[in-house]
Amino acid sequence: MNTPNIDILSSVKTPAYVVDKRLLRKNLELLASVQQRSGCKILLALKGFSMHSLFPMIGEYLAGITASSLFEARLGYEKMGKEVHIYAPAFRDDEFDAILHCCNHIVFNSAAQYRHFKERVEEFNRHNNRSVECALRLNPQYTEQRVAIYDPCAPCSRLGAVASSITPADLEGLSGLHFHTMCEQNSDTLERTLVRVEEQFSQYFGGIKWINFGGGHHITRADYDVERLIRVINGFRAKYGLDVYLEPGEAIALNTGFLVASVLDIVDNGMQLALVDTSAACHMPDVLEMPYRPQIVGAGEPDEKPFTYRLGGMTCLAGDVIGDYSFDKPLAPGDKLIFTDMAHYTMVKNNMFNGVNLPAIAVMDESGITVIREFDFQDYASRLS
Ligand SMILES: *Cc1c(COP(=O)(O)O)cnc(C)c1O
Repeated sequence: MNTPNIDILSSVKTPAYVVDKRLLRKNLELLASVQQRSGCKILLALKGFSMHSLFPMIGEYLAGITASSLFEARLGYEKMGKEVHIYAPAFRDDEFDAILHCCNHIVFNSAAQYRHFKERVEEFNRHNNRSVECALRLNPQYTEQRVAIYDPCAPCSRLGAVASSITPADLEGLSGLHFHTMCEQNSDTLERTLVRVEEQFSQYFGGIKWINFGGGHHITRADYDVERLIRVINGFRAKYGLDVYLEPGEAIALNTGFLVASVLDIVDNGMQLALVDTSAACHMPDVLEMPYRPQIVGAGEPDEKPFTYRLGGMTCLAGDVIGDYSFDKPLAPGDKLIFTDMAHYTMVKNNMFNGVNLPAIAVMDESGITVIREFDFQDYASRLS
């Protein structure tokens, strides 16, 4: 990615997530060109990125959002106002009216859930002159995703209907089909996955209008094969005459944001340890869950540069360790650390464990940084009682 403006980023009160609108717009322009050249529609999966102050800008480029819960659906409905799709492993009776109000497309996880809610959808459409469309999530039992907690096709997975579990009667009245089997993958994975989907489910394509290829398409990554994606979608649309949706989350916000933090203390216990005013457990939980090693501007692998530190967070969790990094100069309290690629799966997953406050949320463009939200004791206290 482009070298970030370190001076401007270092000027923000820490900790803070800073999203660069110029980098986001660059991603959105690429995604818009994919829509235009392939005829597909792209939705933002709010699970990965829900910074709603930017929804109007995202809505200039994408067709809408996809939600995995009522609250996400409502956020997309209220803050973007374009297409709202929803999928959840199961829907609750007491939330379904509100879901009908917000959503255009509802993707059910099983034929039984579709049967359970079908009449409520039809009645809602009749009474409100709406056309909420229903779909079923399929499980093609094929994935190239090898990390177990991100594998929706593992044995005994609860996500999606496998071919042997459905009959043509189950699909009566459906407008669409859906599958989601990818994570941070390239278009060759989609191409191979589609072969399996067609083998098992193309017999049902005659009765539907659209198919959703899920998320996990890493379209905005530098080595992503965009031409293959466009070829695959165009080929599929020509063959079956179906509308195609993609619903990436990560690809929208990939490499668009930073988490700026400060060093608070340096201690020594077998190695140099730097305490920072952020936390893996609270502010970047995927570092522990995925797990992965975030990049820091100007830092290297341990011992690559002369001064190596283990960076530890603000909580009392012994494992709240971000990783080991080396620097050109010794770290000292007050030094700023700029973690890269911190827009997606951070703000949407963070928490106030240990009463540690959340980072502020800020945007950056050619005119500098604007902090749009800061958090305080009330935010912490209000979700406890
Ligand atoms: C997580 C998820 C997405 C978005 O995935 P990304 O990896 O962020 O692109 C889309 N659809 C469904 C059903 C998901 O569970």
